[in-house]
Amino acid sequence: MIEFKNVSKTFSSNGQDVHALQNIQFTIEKGDIFGVIGFSGAGKSTLIRTVNLIERPTAGEIIVNNENLVSLQPRELQRAKRNIGMIFQHFNLLQSKTVFENVATPLRLVKTKKSEVKERVNELLKYVGLEEFASRYPDQLSGGQKQRVGIARALATNPAVLLCDEATSALDPETTSSILQLLKRINQEYNITILMITHELGVVREICNKVAVMENGRIVEQGKVEDVLARP
Ligand code: ADP
Ligand code: ADP
Repeated sequence: MIEFKNVSKTFSSNGQDVHALQNIQFTIEKGDIFGVIGFSGAGKSTLIRTVNLIERPTAGEIIVNNENLVSLQPRELQRAKRNIGMIFQHFNLLQSKTVFENVATPLRLVKTKKSEVKERVNELLKYVGLEEFASRYPDQLSGGQKQRVGIARALATNPAVLLCDEATSALDPETTSSILQLLKRINQEYNITILMITHELGVVREICNKVAVMENGRIVEQGKVEDVLARP
């Protein structure tokens, strides 16, 4: 489903080379909830940004659905992007737009018919439990509600892959749990493959089936959660 083949990313800043990713290799199977855990600076954000096509690797291949993202042409990239949804630590909602319009944004970008937008957005809002909140603005919502909007928006174009960037790090433990349960439901009901980066072990234990541990741009351990994070 997602395969990293010898992926490296080097940034040059002030004449210094920063090796953010070094020979990253792993495979995520369809239906996995794959966690990447590590401390700040380990390279997690860079890794997830290469899958979301925000960063281009310096070397290697990233295969998603049998396509190497690294070698796609601009037009093909647009299509590939639609197959990948993403949610963020700070939600990244448009503050001047309603909940409805936030969720509708990816659909409008691909010129979906108005009637279809309305139907799809209302269906998504219902799914995440926000059907009563369609006309509100983000600053009228709690953190958990904002993340539900983020999730609905990420699912709008029916992606096969959902990327989660510290998606619960700004939330209290109870809200974290409810968001994680929602992600698990989405994984099971829509058969969406999830790749999440987090610095919180508890998140990985709660919903991931596989995990990779990152340190200094490298994966130092990976496997099934119960093997890698086995309690003593
Ligand atoms: P994490 O998400 O695990 O905290 P990052 O991927 O953000 O780690 O960062 C990994 C390393 O890459 C860090 O040393 C960071 O300073 C560096 N880095 C990340 N983005 C850039 C950039 N745009 N320019 C230069 N260095 C960067
Ligand atoms: P029209 O067909 O004239 O565009 P719609 O009823 O389809 O009218 O939608 C008009 C606007 O109302 C949409 O662009 C959207 O911003 C908003 N809207 C549609 N459905 C909802 C809803 N359930 N809650 C809040 N706003 C909505």
